[in-house]
Amino acid sequence: MDDRTFRRAMGKFATGVTVVTTEYQGEAKGMTANAFMSVSLDPRLVVVSIGHKARMHDIVKQTGKFAVNILRRDQEELSRLFAGQLKEERNVSFDWVNGHPILPEALANILCNVYSSYVAGDHTLYFGEVTDIFMKEEPGDPLLFFEGQYRSIGQ
Ligand code: FAD
Ligand code: NAD
Repeated sequence: MDDRTFRRAMGKFATGVTVVTTEYQGEAKGMTANAFMSVSLDPRLVVVSIGHKARMHDIVKQTGKFAVNILRRDQEELSRLFAGQLKEERNVSFDWVNGHPILPEALANILCNVYSSYVAGDHTLYFGEVTDIFMKEEPGDPLLFFEGQYRSIGQ
């Protein structure tokens, strides 16, 4: 089996898309991630998997906190930006809550302190204990990722 087969198979698992954000040296940093999961209710834990080549890996290790911003359908451009796939830089406005930069238009913002971490191959699983949650009152559809393509519900 080659890596392409592995990725093609993993791409059959449809996911939402998040941007993991944190404050680093007074500035907001973000990284697109779909390897996100709810883990436990007591305590309230989530997990994100961050590759060792990503700058965000060392940044979260140092800051000990992160927020998971669940993207809405019309935020594909933000996903591309925070995946390093846009040529030009963009100014993104963040809201700041308890030292966390968060994306105000996301479907939900899940603020966490790192609870534990586990090195798994070329990624680290960062478990986060949830300290705050913000959600939009109005309904909104999520941005989806399936077979390496962005999708939306019903598409
Ligand atoms: P950088 O290269 O430092 O940043 C990424 C981009 O974000 C850069 O273009 C930077 O300019 C921009 N940026 C950062 N902060 C700001 C700011 N404050 N204002 C404006 N722009 C900013 N990788 C994983 O490890 N785990 C995953 O679960 C995962 N899921 C992915 C899902 C999808 C759908 C995609 C497309 C990619 C995914 N990736 C994942 C890959 C990951 O997003 C990229 O490898 C990413 O570029 C790594 O980022 P970095 O931490 O090295 O950040
Ligand atoms: P893709 O076809 O590479 O992604 C399909 C699926 O493969 C993803 O949803 C993920 O489950 C898995 N995957 C891809 N790269 C992986 C990696 N390095 N480690 C573990 N699982 C991985 O999609 P694409 O549009 O070519 O992705 C764009 C870029 O984002 C690529 O460089 C890809 O490697 C990266 N990406 C990384 C992860 C991750 O690290 N977990 C997840 C998705 C995309």
